[in-house]
Amino acid sequence: MGVEKIDHIGIAVRSIEEALPYYRDVLGLKYTGTEVVEEQKVRVAFLEIGESHIELLEPTSDDSPIAGFLEKRGGGIHHIAVRVDDINENLALHREKEVRTIDNEPRKGAHDMKIAFIHPKSTSGVLLELCQEPEETH
Ligand code: ZN
Repeated sequence: MGVEKIDHIGIAVRSIEEALPYYRDVLGLKYTGTEVVEEQKVRVAFLEIGESHIELLEPTSDDSPIAGFLEKRGGGIHHIAVRVDDINENLALHREKEVRTIDNEPRKGAHDMKIAFIHPKSTSGVLLELCQEPEETH
């Protein structure tokens, strides 16, 4: 069961348009595009930072989980994602250790990654995302 790296850090923002100039133009990260992830009701802007990414997450509707987070917390780091080589195996291990997860099965995230969230109660307060590259690109 391999954890390869921090894949990305997800930051909740009210507006990508307002948030992007800092990360792209001041911090100087390479912006590689924006994608809508219907399933999670978010627009996601991607910025490269070394081998990892920063993802700016903007809600596309009021019942988006990101909209709820913004309301409660006013924005900021929403989750940290770690890249794993076998998400099913990794989730099975979580179950075996009786760790509380949000997703029991992987679902589709941005860039067609397979993703699953682990509950902050189990990770000392961080919403943790496991992600695995789609099989085709392996
Ligand atoms: Zn993510």
